[in-house]
Amino acid sequence: MRLILVGPPGAGKGTQAVHLAAHYGIPHISTGDIFRHNMKNETELGLLAKSYVDRGELVPDSVTNEMVKDRLTHEDAREGFLLDGFPRNVLQAEVLRAILAEAGTPLDAVLELALDDSEIIARLSGRRTCKNCSASFHVIYEKPTVDGICDKCQGELYQREDDSEAVIARRLEVYAEQTKPIIAFYRTEGLLITIVATGEVAEISQRAIAALSAAVVQ
Ligand code: AMP
Repeated sequence: MRLILVGPPGAGKGTQAVHLAAHYGIPHISTGDIFRHNMKNETELGLLAKSYVDRGELVPDSVTNEMVKDRLTHEDAREGFLLDGFPRNVLQAEVLRAILAEAGTPLDAVLELALDDSEIIARLSGRRTCKNCSASFHVIYEKPTVDGICDKCQGELYQREDDSEAVIARRLEVYAEQTKPIIAFYRTEGLLITIVATGEVAEISQRAIAALSAAVVQ
């Protein structure tokens, strides 16, 4: 299964990606996680990405496209992958289409998680992320068992710099201006599947898997 998850920041892409990747036995490739990992380790890529990520802007396409191109050549992505957070504009979508066409491995589907703006803001401002494994929790909707500690790896939970109110507003603008057009792009390609991303995490995963089973012949 070659799958892309799209949707506004806070729609639950990261959380659903973990479930769907496990269900289909494919790697979860999150460009945001790759950037944050590099920022934490202060690599050259991390230092470059930080100024963009912290302001809610997109990291330049040249950098992001190369990073994804390289990641897709790893052995674990040969039979499929789930891309979370990429593509984020039409140019990236075109570059991805060219990479996959050259490899003879086209996408199977693009799953859109749809959510209202008011819900997005509530979700993002309460989000807490594990410093160690990137799992995400929520102070109201998905509390960890012990306050401030990740249930999965016992890592420390923190609020992402870009989950502050001012940066959330900018990320929503960037989504509306730059990322939303890829929805029409994939609709035209006949790959788009949209589900409503409200409800319990498990319920949304089931909705996603049902929609994918109905649309994709495996
Ligand atoms: P995310 O974890 O997907 O919300 O991504 C966090 C931040 O990483 C974004 O706000 C961007 O600054 C950067 N980023 C992630 N994916 C991309 C991408 N495909 N293109 C450019 N920047 C990205």
